[in-house]
Amino acid sequence: MSGFELTEEQREIVAAVRDFVDRDVVPHASDFEHADEFPTQMVETMRDMGLFGTTIPEEYGGLGLGLDTYAMIIMELSRGWVTLSGILNGSFIAAWMIRLHGTDEQRQKFLPQLASCEIRAAFSMTEPHAGSDVQSILMTAERDGDEYVLNGQKMWVTNGWRSGLIMLLAKTDPTTDPPHKGMTGFIVEKEPETNPDGLTIPMPGLKKLGYKGVESTELVFDDFRTPASSILGGEAGIGNGFQYFMSGIEAGRVNVAARGAGLAEAALNDSLQYAQEREAFGKPIGHHQAVQLMLAKMATRAEAARLLTLQAAQKKQAGGRADLEAGMAKYFATEAAQENSTDALRIHGGYGYSLEYRPERYYRDAPLLMIGEGSNEIQQLIIARRLLERHKV
Ligand SMILES: Cc1cc2nc3c(=O)[nH]c(=O)nc-3n(C[C@H](O)[C@H](O)[C@H](O)COP(=O)(O)OP(=O)(O)OC[C@H]3O[C@@H](n4cnc5c(N)ncnc54)[C@H](O)[C@@H]3O)c2cc1C
Repeated sequence: MSGFELTEEQREIVAAVRDFVDRDVVPHASDFEHADEFPTQMVETMRDMGLFGTTIPEEYGGLGLGLDTYAMIIMELSRGWVTLSGILNGSFIAAWMIRLHGTDEQRQKFLPQLASCEIRAAFSMTEPHAGSDVQSILMTAERDGDEYVLNGQKMWVTNGWRSGLIMLLAKTDPTTDPPHKGMTGFIVEKEPETNPDGLTIPMPGLKKLGYKGVESTELVFDDFRTPASSILGGEAGIGNGFQYFMSGIEAGRVNVAARGAGLAEAALNDSLQYAQEREAFGKPIGHHQAVQLMLAKMATRAEAARLLTLQAAQKKQAGGRADLEAGMAKYFATEAAQENSTDALRIHGGYGYSLEYRPERYYRDAPLLMIGEGSNEIQQLIIARRLLERHKV
């Protein structure tokens, strides 16, 4: 683990996830992905292993493990199929935000449900016209007695249909300047797989290049009522939603970095194997220098992605600001995933283009990682801003 010492507990859980991925995920993931089928059985195994509660404290029924362990688990899952980490991520971010910013009552109510996977969660900021520019969202939440009335449209909500709660960002005061001061987070409860009064979730969800098997949906709110008690952080949370969601997404960036590191490793592993099996000009293609150069670059990227991700996870876990580390890890690891999946395709030659082999899936799954949880262009802006702050002259 190059520089990162694992405790016995970490070693055990990561090994158990690795076994699960090798046994139940790797052999079947492409079939599920091609059929765009939700992996019910795999999710049940993940639930039984306690993975939905990895970072939730034991007092709420979770495993109480750190973000670094979570990142290692995500790397393993993504090595098998990136979609599995997307299914886990909604619950992870929701639990992270509720633990840090929720009221006692919200923690008592939701953390045990999330840890046991009795409910799964979604995270919803993006709207049809606004992704990177979060402050320009239009979704409104207007107070009416003990309730808030939600109106507006959300876009690209992973787990939108099957989730039982949605971490939702809305404007409780659309007139403030700067706009983020009028933004508030809500923990919206709903019955999974239904359209409750005032909320329409068009299904089947949005059609995608990759990241299949988990639904990405729109959410159309039309006078949807949620109790005032669903404000993340209670009354004190009014106007703090932007800050809470940015903190949540920073933890989410470690998750996406870990997905990138896992995918980069999967592409490398498949290529190492294929390069020794496939022969051209009388020898395995791995004995040709051009292929060796690719393998060397792939391995270096995968290892660097892993280390940056674990470093960011530890920094974020320690509390305080980790935007520089999370930004670097997310940027580097997801670009590494993209580059390694392209190289895996090259190394597999014509078979790389075939649905019989896995690189085509990696190649379609990788680009989302460069876009989601803040695009890689935005990560570079964050990194540069932070560096300029640090090195002010
Ligand atoms: C499959 C999938 C799942 C998703 N899941 C979720 C989810 O669960 N919850 C959720 O809230 N969102 C989700 N998203 C949305 C995702 O977070 C956004 O797509 C992402 O933040 C980018 O926003 P955008 O698509 O509006 O692109 P835009 O913000 O319109 O950006 C378009 C391009 O312009 C660039 N750009 C924008 N602003 C700048 C700038 N200031 N400087 C330089 N370049 C800039 C971007 O980098 C990008 O290249 C998901 C998206 C996808 C595709």
